[in-house]
Amino acid sequence: MYDWLIVGAGFAGSVLAERIASERDQSVLIIDRRPHIGGNAYDRHDDAGVLMHQYGPHIFHTNSDAIFDHLSKFTEWRPYEHRVLGRIDDKLVPIPINRTTINALYDLDLKTDEEAQAFLDSRAEPVEEIRTSEDVVVSKIGRELYEKFFRGYTTKQWGLDPSELDKSVTSRVPTRTNTDDRYFTDTHQFMPKHGYTRMFERMLDHPNIKIMLNADYREIRDEIPHRRLIFTGPIDEFFDFRFGRLPYRSLKFKHVTLDQEQYQPVGTVNYPMTEDYTRISEYKHLTGQEHHKTTITYEYPSATGDPYYPIPRPENQALYKKYQALAMETENVHFVGRLATYRYYNMDQVVGQALAEFRRIQETVPLWSALNGKSHANADERLVGAQLENGRLLN
Ligand code: FAD
Ligand code: UDP
Repeated sequence: MYDWLIVGAGFAGSVLAERIASERDQSVLIIDRRPHIGGNAYDRHDDAGVLMHQYGPHIFHTNSDAIFDHLSKFTEWRPYEHRVLGRIDDKLVPIPINRTTINALYDLDLKTDEEAQAFLDSRAEPVEEIRTSEDVVVSKIGRELYEKFFRGYTTKQWGLDPSELDKSVTSRVPTRTNTDDRYFTDTHQFMPKHGYTRMFERMLDHPNIKIMLNADYREIRDEIPHRRLIFTGPIDEFFDFRFGRLPYRSLKFKHVTLDQEQYQPVGTVNYPMTEDYTRISEYKHLTGQEHHKTTITYEYPSATGDPYYPIPRPENQALYKKYQALAMETENVHFVGRLATYRYYNMDQVVGQALAEFRRIQETVPLWSALNGKSHANADERLVGAQLENGRLLN
């Protein structure tokens, strides 16, 4: 009998497994249907020996000291500030759009933030209510830059026009009037020094934690006795698609190793106007690895395949809310992570969500051994746990 069964060994599942094992001294079985831990952040050395990311480039960035400090228990870091260029009109220009981008595209020599802002203001189109991913861009930088940088990329990435997507999607990419060409401006921008997988190995290296790979929850759920469950897979799948499928966007990755030291000048080059793929990333920029070969990844968006991105639009959120209501009625099961809470979260946000869930568990879920002086669950204990969680039995 495991105290906890955790489905999914990505950030959500692994952070919680470690917290429960170390702070509550309870037993955890963490499973994943993939043959490895780390979820989408999994990295590995490929056949040539280049450290690469199996599921596309993952760059860690956060403004939270608490999240950074927590992960720092399991890894050293390598400072890394990600830079992205876009191939626009046969030029390579910085993304997010900044003053350098504008000067390069329009053959201008804008020297100050004010001049750049005036340029953008002169092109911006007023939008009465900013609702969609088109509105938010057009209202700031106008239609021409929107068409060049956002429309094609977004249509490829999501299979939807930006006018059909929530504004939060393109809002992830700001516009700047200075010459800062970093993709992120967070206070902490680092890569795990020896890779994500090593960090996950250290996180899960605890006598209370057992790991089972190549194991789908649906196959083993009746075989593995457990008291409580943490589920970090797709929430609609957990409920057998009772209300219909929640749409997720997928990608096909093409990984290529080249017999040359470097392929492109920065970590990622975006192709908003041309090509079937959205971007090409080259890992050695991220990892700092020295190697005579290099590995790059092309990302081809796809409607089918592993679920990678929840698709932010109102009708999907409404469907998610139905599953969320069901989740709240389901006793002894916790839903955490990008797929289980249908949120377009970065890694740090998932870590933050998992740490918050752990605090809730500490406040509401009793330690069975503390209650009864033994570690066997019975129906009463489970009931106590459920009632405590609903706040009915405390005091
Ligand atoms: P996941 O990593 O998806 O882990 C869930 C795990 O559950 C998976 O391993 C899955 O196999 C397993 N699972 C699901 N269902 C079952 C089941 N029934 N049985 C057993 N196992 C199951 N974030 C950043 O901060 N920076 C970036 O640069 C960045 N780049 C990204 C690039 C791409 C291409 C993608 C797709 C995402 C990127 N992200 C990035 C987001 C990041 O990947 C996620 O925030 C993070 O990995 C989510 O962690 P998670 O644990 O919620 O989910
Ligand atoms: N985007 C775009 N053009 C770009 C970069 C991003 O239109 O050159 C839009 C696109 O809709 C994308 C979203 O902004 O899905 C968020 O970009 P981000 O780089 O954060 O995507 P992620 O790394 O999460 O795939």
